[in-house]
Amino acid sequence: MSLNAPALFDLSERIAFVTGAGSGIGQRIALGLAQCGADVACIDRRTDGGLEDTLGMIAQVGRKAIAIGADVTDRAALETAVARTEAELGPLGIAVNAAGIANANPAEEMSAEQYQTLMDINMKGVFFSCQAQANAMLKHGKGAIVNIASMSGVIVNRGLSQAHYNASKAGVIHMSKSMAMEWVGRGIRVNTISPGYTATPMNTRPEMVHQIKEFEQQTPMQRMASVDEMVGPAIFLVSDASSYCTGVDLLVDGGFCCW
Ligand code: NAP
Repeated sequence: MSLNAPALFDLSERIAFVTGAGSGIGQRIALGLAQCGADVACIDRRTDGGLEDTLGMIAQVGRKAIAIGADVTDRAALETAVARTEAELGPLGIAVNAAGIANANPAEEMSAEQYQTLMDINMKGVFFSCQAQANAMLKHGKGAIVNIASMSGVIVNRGLSQAHYNASKAGVIHMSKSMAMEWVGRGIRVNTISPGYTATPMNTRPEMVHQIKEFEQQTPMQRMASVDEMVGPAIFLVSDASSYCTGVDLLVDGGFCCW
């Protein structure tokens, strides 16, 4: 018996970089990576203490973490963040890109600014993040990147006027597959997780709150996901457990896209 199956999920001595780590899905995944043994650079633009909370939780599980305030639309800031991660924690091997925003407006009324701001964060921000991360990982000849897309990149959410968001997430899925193929021979895997409706601060925005019951009813599992339920899929995709997976979009949606 040569394969030690539980060890496939062990992230000891791995260095991770998580964007959107000050809230919601990114925060919970950052902690999950640390619980599996990784030291984690936590990146977010929030200044409300979210990153400090993440660092506190990671310290409690005995791993190292650093907080870096950065905007993912700023390529230079991301390059600096990766350099700081490597200087303070070690060679980068894992990245999870969860920073993103959501909002809604009927397509015929949406301003150019609303469209562009969301695209800049959700698409360009993921691209710049992957670029900065891959430039480090390519030097090491090894790395695993997971981008948080959405089931909205696969289906159109009934009752939500968010054409720009849905397009950005479809873009993240296909952009990730494209980068996966560019780097497939050089040791870097790129995959996406596409969550269904998940209980995070993003879903407390005004246009969502009154629809939550409806969204739960539309979901085959009849409930929203908790952020905890994004951790296992993330650990799988960044760890050696998924060493033959690249260019995959893993739907974590309570069955939503089956109906
Ligand atoms: P969240 O709680 O709002 O967390 C997102 C974090 O990213 C926030 O701290 C946010 O800061 C940060 N962020 C936003 N723009 C940024 C930027 N330009 N630079 C750096 N950080 C930035 O939302 P979440 O629900 O965890 O969402 C995480 C990811 O999952 C997003 O990509 C989202 O589209 C995706 N997703 C969420 C759901 C869901 O139901 N919640 C479903 C499918 C996919 P601010 O608070 O300042 O914006």
